[in-house]
Amino acid sequence: MKALQYRTIGAAPEVVTVPDPEPGPGQVLLKVTAAGVCHSDIAVMSWPAENFPYPLPLTLGHEGVGTVAALGAGVTGLSEGEAVAVYGPQGCGRCAKCAEGKENYCLRADELGIRPPGLGAPGSMAEYMLVDDARHLVPLDGLDPVAAVPLTDAGLTPYHAIKRALPRLVAGSTAVVIGTGGLGHVAIQLLRALTPARVVALDVSEDKLRLAREVGAHEAVLSDARAAGAVRELTGGVGAEAVFDFVGVEPTLATAAAVAAVEGEIAIVGIGGATLPVGFGSLPFEVSVYSPYWGSRSELAEVLALARSGAVSVHTETFSLDEAPRAYELLHEGKINGRAVILPNG
Ligand SMILES: [Zn+2]
Ligand SMILES: [Zn+2]
Repeated sequence: MKALQYRTIGAAPEVVTVPDPEPGPGQVLLKVTAAGVCHSDIAVMSWPAENFPYPLPLTLGHEGVGTVAALGAGVTGLSEGEAVAVYGPQGCGRCAKCAEGKENYCLRADELGIRPPGLGAPGSMAEYMLVDDARHLVPLDGLDPVAAVPLTDAGLTPYHAIKRALPRLVAGSTAVVIGTGGLGHVAIQLLRALTPARVVALDVSEDKLRLAREVGAHEAVLSDARAAGAVRELTGGVGAEAVFDFVGVEPTLATAAAVAAVEGEIAIVGIGGATLPVGFGSLPFEVSVYSPYWGSRSELAEVLALARSGAVSVHTETFSLDEAPRAYELLHEGKINGRAVILPNG
């Protein structure tokens, strides 16, 4: 089968032919319908050889939707042809966090060498993918596969970050979304669906700010050195009760710190790698800073339910598997509005 692989440190990913996977005991083989292109893959492909944590070659794709093609020995409860979304941040299934459905925070994944598809294990940018356990599959139940696939990360990750801040986001409050790309433009919709907060979107691109307004941001502000002052002004000097930084570089974290309200929440979601000093006097009183990762299995079901209700719709651009390297180039150049989705069997 064909697969998109990152093969050499620093080189672009390539479409190659690899052996057809066969499901072992307990595994499920999916025929991949759609695979999302995430900016974090670009970050991964920029890591130097000495820090690179995964074996190469690596089949990319940590957002995947497919139909059940074959079941390994002992798998029950699924039927061939069923349309499912893959829960990516897979854990051991047995530790205390996994027992709560928080496999994204599995206590044993590192020790057991369990890696998400596309981030260590073979991912969804291939004609077929193996899933290690049927519990990682959530039924699409009528959702369009292209519209649904980004929800497995670009929907689930902001959903998890926003859920923690919900008690702060009462009527009259303000939420700031920094970076309105793949995750950010879904975050705006989630905030509108889940809270009465005023949503202020920040981005460096006018195209992305236009999309932010289209999907429900009340205000869209160019993300530059003046952005923090603009947000302070919009909030009568109070600042934002919750700030979601989907970039995570020095200037965006500086903005996040400068716009947070007293007792506000700052979620560092983007993996830009910068850090924010926390200590008495460095932030307004009692600001909480957290760095969430992906989301739980039950939250994925909730995000898919929200999409079924029409509250969230992802802006997508589709590409064939052969065009996938180009999709990454366009994303890197900031030229994808919303989410790029690869159709490996399209
Ligand atoms: Zn991602
Ligand atoms: Zn676990």
